[in-house]
Amino acid sequence: MLQRIEFVGPDTPIFSAAGKLCRPAVCRLMAVGDPVTTLVMFSGGMDSTAMLLQLLTQTVDELRVHHVHMVNLEGRAEAERVAVERIVEVCRRRYRPFRYSESALDFSGLEAIPIDWMAIAYVACQVAIDTPRCDRIAVGALATDTDIVNRCARQRRLFEAMYECYRARKLGEPRIEWVYPVFETPKAALAALLPPELLDLTWSCRTPVRTTTGFLACGTCKACRARAGVDAPHLSDPGEVTG
Ligand SMILES: [Zn+2]
Repeated sequence: MLQRIEFVGPDTPIFSAAGKLCRPAVCRLMAVGDPVTTLVMFSGGMDSTAMLLQLLTQTVDELRVHHVHMVNLEGRAEAERVAVERIVEVCRRRYRPFRYSESALDFSGLEAIPIDWMAIAYVACQVAIDTPRCDRIAVGALATDTDIVNRCARQRRLFEAMYECYRARKLGEPRIEWVYPVFETPKAALAALLPPELLDLTWSCRTPVRTTTGFLACGTCKACRARAGVDAPHLSDPGEVTG
């Protein structure tokens, strides 16, 4: 059942930037029992949860879902951890099984906040070579995210430089493609895609406020502002997650 049609051959692209054919495309149907795996970088936010749902329901790809605990002065790691744990449990039970793993980067001793997409590129590289037949990495980037085209290009360049080091040791698949399954989907449509009980579990706030029972979304950070107006009515006030 796990099949994917893909183009294989030398590293020369099939088409040039101008759309000219560079080489004939060779088509290969992956043999049954020889599954390819998509690595899903998962934050527990609305965008990556909608992406996960789409991959679970609209593809037959083997999935390896990975969450990075980003420990820094924003203080969001614990709220994300609670959200991720619950979403993974619901998705596995309701849709289909998948491999899940996590890792942590602890920058809590730094005053500066490191750039997330750089950390994601670094971790994706380590997890990709830890995943047999991993040939795709999926991230929940959206067209409306700030400077997203440049950011994605820089992230891929960073990844490729690191991945080359593993390829020199013959580790990992020869080619890895980065995919953006929900890139063109407006934020409001993403929220509408998610069943309310899953939407309720997602966590986007970058600077949550700790309470005695859990966390409250701050309502003012960039991620909270992006969510404003697209959540279900009962979540239009900053949501709370209890951990
Ligand atoms: Zn916030």
